[in-house]
Amino acid sequence: MLKTIRLEDENTQFLKKVESISGEIITVCDQCGVCSGSCPFTDDMDITPANMMRKVQLGQSDVLETETIWICASCLRCMARCPRGLDLSKVAEALRQINLRTAINHIKVEDISPEEAKRLPAIAYVGAFRKLTG
Ligand code: SF4
Ligand code: SF4
Repeated sequence: MLKTIRLEDENTQFLKKVESISGEIITVCDQCGVCSGSCPFTDDMDITPANMMRKVQLGQSDVLETETIWICASCLRCMARCPRGLDLSKVAEALRQINLRTAINHIKVEDISPEEAKRLPAIAYVGAFRKLTG
């Protein structure tokens, strides 16, 4: 019997965020498990690639704390075999990006002196704020 799962708003937001960053439609994953069986690193992971997809589908942000998202080596074996054509390496990369961006600001606008503001090229600001702010 089919059962409808309704996500809380925060879970839906997390799912949409990962879909937006990764460009993958994660909801189409049918949990067949082929990715987990294909991945050369599954034994080293704390959750399988299929589990990673399920957690994202359910909007469970604790997936950000797993080792799996860092162990994925983007080898694309799972994508080559996924019947839904999903690229799990993009999903893992999106999760890493979210982790790296989470509320960590290594520089602040107010800390830049007027002298520095005059001297530094615009591209320095773009690069720095992109890489060093959450
Ligand atoms: S192989 Fe594709 S459809 Fe199957 S569980 Fe993995 S991501 Fe989902
Ligand atoms: S892309 Fe990542 S999850 Fe997929 S098979 Fe390679 S290491 Fe495993």
